[in-house]
Amino acid sequence: MAYDSNNIFARILRGEIPCNKVYEDQHVLAFHDIHPQAPTHILVIPKGAYVSFADFSERATPDEITGFFRAAGLIARQAGVDATGYRLISNHGRDSHQDVPHFHLHILAGRPLGPLLLRQG
Ligand code: 5GP
Repeated sequence: MAYDSNNIFARILRGEIPCNKVYEDQHVLAFHDIHPQAPTHILVIPKGAYVSFADFSERATPDEITGFFRAAGLIARQAGVDATGYRLISNHGRDSHQDVPHFHLHILAGRPLGPLLLRQG
């Protein structure tokens, strides 16, 4: 899938749409999700143009990959959720219900989060 430079996170990165920023460095921006699913719900995104985890893991440079995951750990520590725990989610593609086609990691925390997936049937 080609990268859509008008997706909402690309527009946040360009400063066209505001966000509630929690962290920024050379490679990464993190901000609060607009519709939080838990008391802490932070989105961590790379500044580079990657559609999803699949795209990021294939094309990002080693510096971008290391910077991204180090930042994600730091952001969780700074959010104060290390002791109680947190869940990382990254949706890729149709079956995962990925909405925004710019790679992002959800950090969810602040209450017991229940089973990993909704059980069906
Ligand atoms: P996905 O389903 O793609 O994994 O998650 C996209 C997330 O982006 C959703 O949790 C949604 O609430 C969040 N989101 C969508 N638009 C905006 C926005 O304009 N600002 C912020 N902060 N979050 C957004």
